[in-house]
Amino acid sequence: MSSGYENAPATKMLATNCAVCGKPLVDAESCETGLGPICRAESGFDAGVAEADRETANRLVFNAAIAAQQGRATVVVEIAKAVEKLGFPVLAGKMRARFMRVVAAPERRADIFIVLEKDGKTLQVHTPYRRGAAEEFTAAWRAIPGRQWHTRANHIPVEQKAALWALLKRFFPGKWGKGPQGVFRVPKLEKAG
Ligand SMILES: [Zn+2]
Repeated sequence: MSSGYENAPATKMLATNCAVCGKPLVDAESCETGLGPICRAESGFDAGVAEADRETANRLVFNAAIAAQQGRATVVVEIAKAVEKLGFPVLAGKMRARFMRVVAAPERRADIFIVLEKDGKTLQVHTPYRRGAAEEFTAAWRAIPGRQWHTRANHIPVEQKAALWALLKRFFPGKWGKGPQGVFRVPKLEKAG
């Protein structure tokens, strides 16, 4: 695993809900594994597998439980893939089942909508208003060359896509959006140190 989620600060948190069914975890062991006793038994987690593999899976499931707690559905699905590779297909399937729906249809919670206009040269961008940072927000939009505001949306030339992306990353980190190429997620801000 090189993607880093094993070492993420999140792993120091406590898993409060089962990575598979989402029910609250009650005993200490479950909180450590991110898996309740019933789901553990049903998913074959305790069945004859190498101890080392189970430990690795354990760490992954715990991280999945934390990610689920934070609503990071794509991370859960990514972790499920790794769990499957380790030899826990049933567990992986169960982990995925709860979150696939969210990943497949995040537009239900999308905050940002980007439409390519009929001219093929203009992107119409709908975002929430940033009340807390109103001045910076407006200035950032105005700084995009060719940007216009009308019909309650920002309109920018397609070639300013990079500038738009920078704005979204600054004001809407972690938010979901829907654009001409489908669903996307604005990356979270990387904290220094
Ligand atoms: Zn469970």
